[in-house]
Amino acid sequence: MPPPRRRGTALRQRLADLRGPDVPAKALDARALAALAANPGCSRRAILDGAGVNKAALADALGSPSAFGQSQFALTRGNAFEAKVKADGGADLLRLVHEKLDPRAEPPTGASVPDLSAIGPEGRTARTALALREAVAASGTWTLLDHPMLALDVAGSPAFLEPDAVVVHPDGSWTVVEIKSFPLLDGSADPAKVGAAARQAAVYVLALEAVAARLDPAPRVRHRVLLVCPKDFSNLPAASAVDIRKQRAVTHRQLARLTRIEEIADTLPEGTCFSPELPPEQLTAAVEAVPAAYAPECLAACELAFHCRGRSRAAGAVTTLGRPVRAELGGLTTVEDVLAAARGEAGDPDDPAVAALRRAALLRDEALGATCR
Ligand code: SF4
Repeated sequence: MPPPRRRGTALRQRLADLRGPDVPAKALDARALAALAANPGCSRRAILDGAGVNKAALADALGSPSAFGQSQFALTRGNAFEAKVKADGGADLLRLVHEKLDPRAEPPTGASVPDLSAIGPEGRTARTALALREAVAASGTWTLLDHPMLALDVAGSPAFLEPDAVVVHPDGSWTVVEIKSFPLLDGSADPAKVGAAARQAAVYVLALEAVAARLDPAPRVRHRVLLVCPKDFSNLPAASAVDIRKQRAVTHRQLARLTRIEEIADTLPEGTCFSPELPPEQLTAAVEAVPAAYAPECLAACELAFHCRGRSRAAGAVTTLGRPVRAELGGLTTVEDVLAAARGEAGDPDDPAVAALRRAALLRDEALGATCR
């Protein structure tokens, strides 16, 4: 087996070939990682994300454009709100961290805001790690890291992540801050949006823990993050402390289960390429060469959802009916198999799923007063 460095170079080249000539890699962000971790059985998403393929462009080229992602208006509004929250050296943001998470500490006056600029994601990651180390060494003070860069190993490849902010408390502990543009109405927000923000923050916490583990003694990464949103319908910042222990544990487990990208790449036919410049038939064949695990949840989490749903429906796959139904049907994977089993034309009668289907078909026939078989 070649040494790890040569294997790493070979894998990077293989992933670049999968993206296509001169197609730049799309960086994985925490939102994508959280979604990836939510469907760890999907090799298709794992290889596309691992290779840095732009899935929205791919979906367009396949003729199934995605309805997923943030509008330009939402992005602009979010950026303006974030700039407001971080104005004056992050005075408002630090006040909220103190108030919601660490009220016993000294109030954050004159916090340090280190410059984190460096060349490339690796350089910025190293600069962030140094700033965190220096902040811990300068104990007793508050430090705000504005858009730090963190690295997390995902299925054997590094993903670079950029939280909105990380705050180092006077006791040396670290807090992830998420700034969102959806409103906090009377102190609470849309649970689905808070849940998505918590899953994203959990990814940042895992990446921060990897940095903390390299320090001796390892600083504490807090498992309560700060969610900052506009208060009611104003653009004044309000905040809520969110406990992400559950999301952290789930994401950690799911990311560990992801098949290594290298292994998936090795199963693909030579010459496989996902460049959006290719003709749709060739692109469809390339995408279909990687096994997928479609579920209706993909519609809210993956740019390829319309394509995968269309293929699953065309194949009569029961996965389109949802994971709970899929789980109940055991080894019956297509609607055709299910109907044949219900009609008594196929399936093992001792299989509980087959027996339940036959019983259901009988009851249906009795209820309708006619034979439907
Ligand atoms: S939409 Fe397709 S590629 Fe995306 S996670 Fe679902 S099955 Fe995988």
